[in-house]
Amino acid sequence: MELNYYSDLAVRLVNSEQPERGEDTLTSVDAVRELFGAHSTMARRATEADVSRLRAVRTRLRAVFAAASEGDEVRAVDLLNALLMEFPTSPQISGHGDLDDEGRPRWHMHLAEQPANATAAYAATACMGLAFHLTDLGVDRLGICQATPCRNAYLDTSTNRSRRYCSDRCATRANVAAYRARKRRENSLDRPVEAGREADGDAAGGRGRSGPVSGRTAPAAQRTTEAGED
Ligand SMILES: [Zn+2]
Ligand SMILES: [Zn+2]
Repeated sequence: MELNYYSDLAVRLVNSEQPERGEDTLTSVDAVRELFGAHSTMARRATEADVSRLRAVRTRLRAVFAAASEGDEVRAVDLLNALLMEFPTSPQISGHGDLDDEGRPRWHMHLAEQPANATAAYAATACMGLAFHLTDLGVDRLGICQATPCRNAYLDTSTNRSRRYCSDRCATRANVAAYRARKRRENSLDRPVEAGREADGDAAGGRGRSGPVSGRTAPAAQRTTEAGED
């Protein structure tokens, strides 16, 4: 079904802005046309006015993802319903000259065939796709990337509903950051410790250690650096 593809329009629009980084790529008619991707028939009608119109829709769509990501399912649904009311669909089956290998039209759904403008077409399609995704798979499948400062929206299609990041790149970045933070914590715990204690050897449970450990009580294997003692 193409609905997943349509819900991807919602993700693409939201992620045209990185609010925490102060970045925005939705700044021109060309950028609007790019968002439409393969839906070029809708993109052709884009004008300068669609830049600000789409930005306004983007803000509201981000709020849907944010509410879902915070576990506020009712709010996410309310916000999306309001968008669906405002940007209704008018579905039509279309082929528009795109033929398959046997010369038959590739029939597919156009969800907003008579839109007032490009934004109305985009919003109707994106919101309907998102609504189907949400009702089919669950509100908890909508999320906001947890690898700050990235605040990208994503749709979780993993089998165990475990996704927390928009991309592999952000997952790696978050893991590295968590590792470094843990190391920093361990180092600050280790600093007051006497010279005799090793910094390593704490692969498991090192985080829970509370205070300085006396060199004399350390296991024999860790005392090898204390040359001359004993
Ligand atoms: Zn089409
Ligand atoms: Zn991310």
